[in-house]
Amino acid sequence: MTGTRRKGSLFVLSAPSGAGKSTLCRALEERFPNIEYSVSHTTRPPRPGEVHGADYFFVDTETFEKGIREGRWAEWAKVHGNYYGTSAGFIRRALERGGRLLLDIDVQGARQIRAAFPEAVTIFIMPPSVEELRRRLAGRGTDSPETVEKRMGCAEWEMAQAGEYRHVVVNGELGRAVEELAAIIKAHS
Ligand code: ADP
Ligand code: 5GP
Repeated sequence: MTGTRRKGSLFVLSAPSGAGKSTLCRALEERFPNIEYSVSHTTRPPRPGEVHGADYFFVDTETFEKGIREGRWAEWAKVHGNYYGTSAGFIRRALERGGRLLLDIDVQGARQIRAAFPEAVTIFIMPPSVEELRRRLAGRGTDSPETVEKRMGCAEWEMAQAGEYRHVVVNGELGRAVEELAAIIKAHS
């Protein structure tokens, strides 16, 4: 250690549900094994297979709201009726370690991060079309038709906010989208 304060790079990824963010993140994990993913806190119940501390920290509403009052979240938002937030301490420590930190958060959260960390590299993942987004959501088979339609309604609003992001990556052909994302990460590390 030189004693010099190292500063890491902060990346923010947002996308409408079904655009392929999880698929792209898995590909990035292989490409950049030492990238650090922020584990969010949420009041949403765990889905089958999700692990506390790995996928999310699952907390109750009272704990989350106490965190809001105490300024524990670098950003927080209500998404699809549940609270989601990123620990301010976690971001600070990760950046002090000097690594690359990636936040997977919604449009409202990205706005707060942009205000607090103007150097953050914000990336919006765009589906190639609205029709393809619906096909992917339906094809994934994890959501009821009602949920798919609800998510499609949110998606139109989210996609209209893409101009706020420094980069927009269209997830059409998967390999190409991964290359574009990798190039952005390398350019800003
Ligand atoms: P998200 O995490 O954004 O909700 P997922 O990664 O779960 O989305 O992807 C939604 C569905 O679309 C999955 O079935 C996935 O396999 C598929 N998918 C993701 N990226 C592509 C792509 N580039 N081309 C075709 N299908 C894709
Ligand atoms: P899911 O419940 O499907 O895992 O996530 C739903 C949405 O919440 C996604 O758009 C995801 O990016 C967003 N999200 C996850 N964690 C956070 C967070 O800590 N803060 C904010 N603002 N959004 C989050």
